[in-house]
Formats: sequence, C-alpha cells, structure tokens
Amino acid sequence: INFNSARFITSAPDISQMPPDTGVEIAFAGRSNAGKSSALNTITQQKSLARISKTPGRTQLINVFELSADKRLIDLPGYGYAKVPQEMKQKWQAALSIYLQKRESLKGLVVLMDIRHPLKDIDQQLLEWASESSLPVLALLTKSDKLKPGPRNSEVLRVREAVKVYGGDIRVESFSSLKGLGVDRAKEVLSAWLLE
Ligand code: GDP
Repeated sequence: INFNSARFITSAPDISQMPPDTGVEIAFAGRSNAGKSSALNTITQQKSLARISKTPGRTQLINVFELSADKRLIDLPGYGYAKVPQEMKQKWQAALSIYLQKRESLKGLVVLMDIRHPLKDIDQQLLEWASESSLPVLALLTKSDKLKPGPRNSEVLRVREAVKVYGGDIRVESFSSLKGLGVDRAKEVLSAWLLE
C-alpha cells in the first residue's frame, strides 16, 4: 500500500455524514495532544496532511483521507479535552461506539496514546468497544523518543499485559513521529488490514 498517495477528501461534522460505507477504511483515534496528527503525517510522509495546530475545545471534524478509490484513513476528532462540555462528550462517545460497531468498511482502529501516560479511562473505553465489535486494534505508544530504550520497552510490555483484559486483537507498539521509530511496523499492520 502506498501511504504517500493519501489526499484529503472531506471533513464530516459527524459520523452520519461520512462517505458511503464501501471499500475499506482504518480509523485513527486518540486523546487530544496524543500525537495523532503527527502520526498521520509521518505515515503518509506528508508534512501537513492532518493539521497539527488545532483549537482546543472547538468541535472538531472527522477528516477523511483517500489512499485510493476504495481505501481510506479516517482521522477522528481528538477526545478528552477538559473544555468540551460534558453533553458534547457524551454525544460524541455514543456516536463513536456506534461507528465502531456498525461501520462495515472499518477494518481496524489505531489508538494513539502518549507513552508517558497511556490507558486513560477514555482510551480504555475505546479498547473495550473495539474488542466488543471484534475490531482489531493497533495501539501506538507515541512520543516514544521521550523515553530511553529500557523504560520504553518495559512500558510496551506493561501495556501489552494490561490490554489482555479486553481479550480482543490488540497489538501494542512504540512509535515516534519525531525519530521515525516504529513507522514501518505500523505501516505493515495497516497494509494487512487494508488488503484483507
Ligand atoms: P494530536 O492532538 O493528537 O493530533 O497531536 P499532535 O500530532 O498535534 O502532537 C501534539 C504535540 O506532541 C505537538 O507539540 C507535537 O509536536 C508533539 N509530538 C507529536 N509526535 C511526537 C513525537 O514523536 N515525539 C515528540 N517528542 N513529540 C511529538
């Protein structure tokens, strides 16, 4: 799969306004500031595919990128901003769980978590929903350049153990957009999903 060919197609204000549910897609989700935009830009080798500067607390859009006519990457809005009203958070969570359950073209979910504080409540919720929907997950522990190799590896092992409670197909790997760590490995997982 050539990830460099990714191009922006559309922004959807909510899940009901996403492109038709045909072909295959992979969704990217993570708490705000987890490094999701950077990861998308790194994987597609495009400096500003997903905009890195975003306004905290504003309603964000679902960005749809196309790799080819029937293959998409979906950039879900960052979650977990304290400033977002509770009601909006609940609406978004409800929509997200339905998307994970019902979207036929969705073949995998990439969950981005800062390696220094992974598995926050909302991340765990997401992993639980994905497992319930039998959706494979690639959990990328981002900004892994912030830890030395020893602590980095032990954190990967710790998170691998912790996600076993969900029972699903959850793969945990370290990742760094800054240093290019784990990028090829991540692309292999995504390619396998897209070619299924
Ligand atoms: P998003 O809100 O999840 O889309 O996160 P961004 O991609 O905008 O990144 C949030 C912040 O983390 C920015 O200041 C980035 O420069 C920084 N960041 C992202 N990826 C890395 C990384 O691999 N290493 C380091 N050290 N910083 C990163």
